[in-house]
Amino acid sequence: MIYNSFKDIKLSALGMGNMRLPVKKDVDGNPIDRAEAQKIIDDAMSGGINYYDTAYVYHSGESEDFVGEAISKYPRESYHLATKFSIFAKEDYKGMFEEQLRNLRTDYIDFYLIHCLTDENIDKYLDCGCIEYFLEQKRLGRIKYLGFSSHASVESLERFASHHDWDFAQLQINWFDWNYGTSKAEYEVLEKKNIPVIVMEPVRGGKLASLSEDAEKILKTAHPDWSIPAWAFRFVKSLPMVKVVLSGMSNLEQLNDNLSTFSDENGLNDKDMQTLMTACEVFKKNLCVPCTACRYCCDDCPAQIDIPAVLSVYNDYKVDGGRGVLRRINDLESTGKPADCVECGLCKNHCPQNIDITTIMQEIKEKI
Ligand code: SF4
Ligand code: SF4
Repeated sequence: MIYNSFKDIKLSALGMGNMRLPVKKDVDGNPIDRAEAQKIIDDAMSGGINYYDTAYVYHSGESEDFVGEAISKYPRESYHLATKFSIFAKEDYKGMFEEQLRNLRTDYIDFYLIHCLTDENIDKYLDCGCIEYFLEQKRLGRIKYLGFSSHASVESLERFASHHDWDFAQLQINWFDWNYGTSKAEYEVLEKKNIPVIVMEPVRGGKLASLSEDAEKILKTAHPDWSIPAWAFRFVKSLPMVKVVLSGMSNLEQLNDNLSTFSDENGLNDKDMQTLMTACEVFKKNLCVPCTACRYCCDDCPAQIDIPAVLSVYNDYKVDGGRGVLRRINDLESTGKPADCVECGLCKNHCPQNIDITTIMQEIKEKI
């Protein structure tokens, strides 16, 4: 395991995320399969991982209790615990903090985070008094380092990051969002303020664990011995501000693959980076429909749908993955909407890119 210096301690470059632990699928509520999950924690500890991330809300509230139970058999100084105040779950930050200490069987949290900053909740977090309270807990030694995790816009991130000298921040960074999302701009905000970075979703919720066939071929040709997720981990560990890369590991196979990726300093060299960017382009092309907005399909559409506008939002949705993006279709100034599509197929006959518009309209109809 490689380690990064953070203040006066050493953090394992790979951190264990506890939001995708194995569960008992045949039991109501899908509780954590504690025996299986304990094996992952044990092997993670023996593999040198010393950063364990959880949150009040993970696994419907069970994650913290499991982590507390599983890890408290080890000496307290051999691991660092990270958990979060989730205002969207409960506004009582004092009560939640005490509960978390009990759940985790500890009297201090190493890394405490304001959870999931967004453009919608930023003012709530700033105005409710929680930050001042947590700073006081830090002075009392009940929190070692105070930070936040963000899914907010670059502007809100910048505003929040300027609130005071945060010890660290957690961002969603991966090679796809670096190119097509805001990861790079967010990273640069923290870099400018010299705030160390913890990375979440390096494999984009698993979406970068397997790519399209031709994108995977490019990567496999360059490094036959690297798994596809290993490329994602090597990308983020190459970034100098990154101290820990979190992976929500669900089984021992993932853990072992990750331990091998983090067994040496090697990230990606310039040639690897070029290869990854080529694969990224190919993957995106496969992900999105190649609409050129020529509008040949529009005139004959009996439902008067602004097809290229709809397809543009659809492509954003494919890249982003959130249904909220797809709902932007409801705001388009299109006379007809995907729900009005009568499946006549006239559009496809006109489309020089041969896009199967009818099927896409049906897919959208079902999702919004
Ligand atoms: S299939 Fe749907 S989108 Fe295409 S022309 Fe017919 S109504 Fe319009
Ligand atoms: S004809 Fe095809 S490429 Fe042109 S706007 Fe319609 S969907 Fe897009």
